[in-house]
Amino acid sequence: MRIAAALFCVLAALATGASAQSLKDVIAKYTIAWNTPTEPFNIIGNIHYVGTNGLASYLITTPEGHVLIDTGLPEANPQIKGSIAKLGFKVADIKYLLNTHAHFDHTGGLAELKQETRAQLLAGERDKPLLEGGTYPGQESAVELKFQPVKVDRTVAEGDTVSLGGVTLTAHATPGHSPGCTSWTLNVKDGDSTRSAIIFCSGTVALNRLVSNPTHPGIVEDYKKTFAWARDYKVDVFLAPHPEMYGMHEKRQRIAAGAPNPFVNRDAFNTYIAGLETAFDAALAKQKAETEGKK
Ligand SMILES: [Zn+2]
Repeated sequence: MRIAAALFCVLAALATGASAQSLKDVIAKYTIAWNTPTEPFNIIGNIHYVGTNGLASYLITTPEGHVLIDTGLPEANPQIKGSIAKLGFKVADIKYLLNTHAHFDHTGGLAELKQETRAQLLAGERDKPLLEGGTYPGQESAVELKFQPVKVDRTVAEGDTVSLGGVTLTAHATPGHSPGCTSWTLNVKDGDSTRSAIIFCSGTVALNRLVSNPTHPGIVEDYKKTFAWARDYKVDVFLAPHPEMYGMHEKRQRIAAGAPNPFVNRDAFNTYIAGLETAFDAALAKQKAETEGKK
């Protein structure tokens, strides 16, 4: 949690004009955690964690092939592939690659995996130009934030679905963190019960410019729309692109045969969203004050 908070502070500073050198240093520092391996495991039902210690990647398995949601940095691809194999699945069986949002830390491995598996890439409509351009919205000149461009085969809007092997994932437009930020929901089996699960896109401010952002007009309204939706959206299992957002490491320690699944918690998502809204309001006030100060 401490690392996440520190990253947030530094990223917020960068968003308002810190030097390119500090951006490079910060990325280099976080890259260590982002590339540190972790054991893959079954989260619940057919959802498996195949990401790294610091960046999530989810494998949704079905009898007719698999869906992979997000990658990490490009150098983490061998880990992700190794984790899929370790759980007894085949990378070649991936039929769909889904992306929550077009930021380099979740997209770096997509181009290579797409080429290797020939899977279809689905992403939010407004993230398509970012994925195909390989840049961070509003920070187009920052080389540290670039990634290998990748072709989007199908864009999705609110309520669109993708079905495979009896599993249906539904796209939810949750813009703000990126223009086409997309959260995915699905139902999973948990013993005799059926649980609803969300892989939330993200709602942190990160490097985003909230005041006069030329490449993401309406960014503040987008965040607010997402918070308004997510505040009351009820879901049993909350998952996200960064494992610390939902206490992945702590929860996995509590998985035990016969015990309730620690990832099932009907309040976790709404509680997290409430914290995000508070952080967003503070970041917006700060960026507004800084913009005023520069006038
Ligand atoms: Zn992001």
